[in-house]
Amino acid sequence: MNIHIDAAFDSGNIEVLEISGSGARLRIRHDNESEFYQWFHFRVAGAAGQELELKIGDLNGSAYPLGWRGYRACVSEDRSYWARAETSFDKNEDGGTLTIRHTPDSDIAWFAYFAPYSLERHHDLIAEAAASEGVAYRCLGHSLDGRPIDCLEMGEGSIPVWLIARQHPGESMAEWWMEGALEALCDPADPVARLLRQKCRLHVVPNCNPDGSIRGHLRTNAAGVNLNREWHEPSAERSPEVLALRNAMDETGVRFVMDVHGDEAIPANFLAGFEGIPSWSDELGAQYQRYRSILERRSPDFQTAKGYPIAGAGKANLSMSTNQLAERFGACAMTLEMPFKDNDDLPDPEQGWSPERSKLLARDCLASLVEWLEG
Ligand SMILES: [Zn+2]
Repeated sequence: MNIHIDAAFDSGNIEVLEISGSGARLRIRHDNESEFYQWFHFRVAGAAGQELELKIGDLNGSAYPLGWRGYRACVSEDRSYWARAETSFDKNEDGGTLTIRHTPDSDIAWFAYFAPYSLERHHDLIAEAAASEGVAYRCLGHSLDGRPIDCLEMGEGSIPVWLIARQHPGESMAEWWMEGALEALCDPADPVARLLRQKCRLHVVPNCNPDGSIRGHLRTNAAGVNLNREWHEPSAERSPEVLALRNAMDETGVRFVMDVHGDEAIPANFLAGFEGIPSWSDELGAQYQRYRSILERRSPDFQTAKGYPIAGAGKANLSMSTNQLAERFGACAMTLEMPFKDNDDLPDPEQGWSPERSKLLARDCLASLVEWLEG
């Protein structure tokens, strides 16, 4: 009896080349009109008690080949709890092959690059937050496929704070982070949220790229455009998602902004700043460094030793949100990167980096913002 493999669902992505018994040869579909591929999400049926051997090939050409080294695939049988499966990578097998071995207890198991965050769950998140006391809903605009760019607003203070996530749709940990942030911000009893809402007006966009999310893309929108390379000149034709966001920010101004992402290769949580922008000042740079230091002290899951190389003077890429928003508004802007793998400083052999840990990190980010504002 052969297993069955399906991916025709929300954020599904896999192509089946061959199935033989409990083994399969697979490929990842490219993002539409794009060369990027790395996100996978599929289910396997008919394998209770049998050891699966799932081989995803052609990965040396994927967006981040270094992401496969030391990576373990996510697996769930109830679509709620996501563990890690035994996984190995051989760059010399079939153009780079990830081999996943797993023996499911029940007859259906789900595999994904990271625990998925479905568009249905996104709508639940928006609905629940919008129904909370003191929270206003605002539609910023629409995606190319006509989906709303949802924004939740709260707080009576004057400091404009923006939190945005999932410009890169395959980085689903970013929306798990948002779920943690919104649970705190919408809780009238949460002391961190109460202080933030007293001092700030918060604008929260949990998913900047709903089309890419439901299509099972790694990095782009419906037209294959990388939204985090559009911030210098977003357009209605290519990147209406960014155009809507940037226009809304032009109305409110921005004092502090965090853009939430996931990183394929580096096994750590880290921030990237805006070094190299034309209007760089040591004073604004010090504000960013101070936030980073506060978060490092507060969260054992955050560190500052590992991260991206820093741009030289005048070399910042202004098509990226963090650089553009620091330049445009003099904002303390930053990109938060969470790992697809694990935080190697505090590893969890069972789950690796997970939805649960992403949500907890969001709480520490908000508490750090309170401390930053008070300093
Ligand atoms: Zn990203």
